[in-house]
Amino acid sequence: MDFPDNISRLCGKKHFSFGCHPDVACFTECCRELDLALTPYDVLCLCKELHMSAAEFFDRYVVVEQDEKGGVPVVYLGMVDDGRASCPFISESGCKVYNSRPGACRAYPVGRGVTLAANGDVREVHVLVREAHCQGFAESDSHNVAEWFKNQGLTEYNAINDEVLRLLQHEKAAQSLCLTQEQKDTFILALYRLDEFRNMVSSADFCDKYMLDAEERQAILADDMSLLRFAIRWLQIRLFTEKT
Ligand code: SF4
Ligand code: SF4
Repeated sequence: MDFPDNISRLCGKKHFSFGCHPDVACFTECCRELDLALTPYDVLCLCKELHMSAAEFFDRYVVVEQDEKGGVPVVYLGMVDDGRASCPFISESGCKVYNSRPGACRAYPVGRGVTLAANGDVREVHVLVREAHCQGFAESDSHNVAEWFKNQGLTEYNAINDEVLRLLQHEKAAQSLCLTQEQKDTFILALYRLDEFRNMVSSADFCDKYMLDAEERQAILADDMSLLRFAIRWLQIRLFTEKT
């Protein structure tokens, strides 16, 4: 595969030099003019960090891009209209939500492409992205991909994002996905607005319709990750099996 000049393939245990800290001259320069797509887990972590409901978070920070051809909607972090299109969470001293920053912010300068193999295995491709303004490559710290992802706390992010991938790359989605607006709204509700989805799953009507007994419902509602994993499985039924 051919990549642009600033992107190169990172294979196996190949090391790269990179460091990012408050003393780099470009500190915070990368947190502007971003098309920053958020995953469901990103939104969950940010809502917790900010002590906000998903509805409040969506009202304040999110732009949803609808696919007119019926594909799944994409959730972006909206940039601020300050003349520099800054991230709403940047400050002079750095990221205000650093401990819960999105996976894409953690991964940079590494990009991770994932596909599902026919046997269900997740296949990863990694690339190194050298943004022109980024001076972090002049730092001497050396990492390989596995070390970088572990140091950036990406293990849990990648694991749950790979489960979402099973929905996005579902064989029926690959054939011809043409979601109605109601299905697109359901996709956002179940994956991104977990507090509202929790109320929906708690209802007697939902449990009757999907034949959830009390024990199953308790396990699903036990914590946010169990609920998110259920949302991924449930959406495969709701979007690809049920009649609208
Ligand atoms: S541009 Fe690169 S080195 Fe500078 S703050 Fe951003 S990631 Fe760090
Ligand atoms: S969330 Fe934090 S790290 Fe990510 S772009 Fe915004 S300020 Fe930068």
